[in-house]
Amino acid sequence: TEERYVANNPRSERRFRQAATVMPGGNTRTSLYYSPFPVTFVAGEGQFLTDLDGHRYVDLLGEYSAGLYGHSDPAVLTAVRKVLDEGLSYGGPNQYEVELAQEITHRFPSVELVRFTNSGTEANLFAIGAARAVTGRSKVLAFESGYHGGVLSFRGEAPLNAPYPYVVCEYNDVPGTLAAIREHRDDLAAVILEPMLGGGGAVPATAEFVRAIREATTRYDVVFILDEVMTSRLAPGGLQERLDVVPDLTTFGKYIGAGFGFGAFGGSRRLMERFDPSVPGSLSHPGTFNNNTVTMAAGLVGLRDVFTPEAARELNARGDRLRDRLNSLFIEYDVAVRATGVGSIMGLHFQRSPIVSGRHIAPAPDKRTLLHLELMLRGFYIARRGYLALPLPVTDTDVASFVDAVADVVATHRRLLR
Ligand code: PMP
Repeated sequence: TEERYVANNPRSERRFRQAATVMPGGNTRTSLYYSPFPVTFVAGEGQFLTDLDGHRYVDLLGEYSAGLYGHSDPAVLTAVRKVLDEGLSYGGPNQYEVELAQEITHRFPSVELVRFTNSGTEANLFAIGAARAVTGRSKVLAFESGYHGGVLSFRGEAPLNAPYPYVVCEYNDVPGTLAAIREHRDDLAAVILEPMLGGGGAVPATAEFVRAIREATTRYDVVFILDEVMTSRLAPGGLQERLDVVPDLTTFGKYIGAGFGFGAFGGSRRLMERFDPSVPGSLSHPGTFNNNTVTMAAGLVGLRDVFTPEAARELNARGDRLRDRLNSLFIEYDVAVRATGVGSIMGLHFQRSPIVSGRHIAPAPDKRTLLHLELMLRGFYIARRGYLALPLPVTDTDVASFVDAVADVVATHRRLLR
């Protein structure tokens, strides 16, 4: 498989070698590397990507969930072109930021006040910083396989460059988490949770787990931060709506910027008011491009006109159907492969056993490589780790041909995947 992939992508290989002379590993974003080398893209249109060697892919990775609108949504492009004509970088407030903030606060009722950042990482750093400031405590409780940004990653050990002291618990472990919250309550500023592990394998939190965290954090005055950077697209009001939970702070990012750098954090008025700069002793939150007009205008049009509640329901129903079809296929072929996730975001894993936390995921690097490269050779772009996030322009026909491609790979390599 790898030989066919190399033979098929000579221009991408040459570009990769050139890149490696000026960037570590030929790469400026860790998650974009995969062996033997990633293909280089030159164009995107709708749900399709074209690479340097002229191959066209159905883009099922959808920029790790940030590419919700596909590569050329007409409403988003029109909004961006208008902003380009209005001039860049005002260094002052603009009309778009207010409307985007209104759109977000309507959509996510737990968010009474919101602030914008340039990435999900930053949003989480500011949310955690706020929690530490208002509680006067230092520690943060996070979960194994959780991902909240570059230096806030708990896949494997907590990172050496983590900025805060952490307590790390197993995902979906109710008694362990409650015991840790109780044990550390005097030093614990925040619990930060993804309502579905995203980068950690598309593993949903149980309602019971989320409810238990909400109750314990309320009891001990710990700030509950729900990281919906990835999951806020999984229901019209995010997974917090589906789970019926009201966090103290929520963080956002990815698709809400409609293809441009974006992040946001928001929540209860009581906490967020601390950022009011007209009040002495307020918390600091500058950031040169926080309200840049391109992101604000594109994000506004996307959320208001394109990703309507109706569109959100439809897309996630399509994802649920795809997950069901894949799992039926894996059972039919009797292979140890399963699809996890919620709605339009899913993970493919190489095992039959259920997955409720990162500890249950079989690493299976060779099988992940095989499936990934075989799907790329058939014209479907997903992540090496087996992650997919359906963009809006993907059609039922695209989904059907993807299922056929997966069936073909599974049939061809059935013995290996047993
Ligand atoms: N939180 C979650 C749940 C994420 O998936 C990500 C990005 N993959 C982030 C935070 C960080 O966002 P960004 O890459 O924009 O910094």
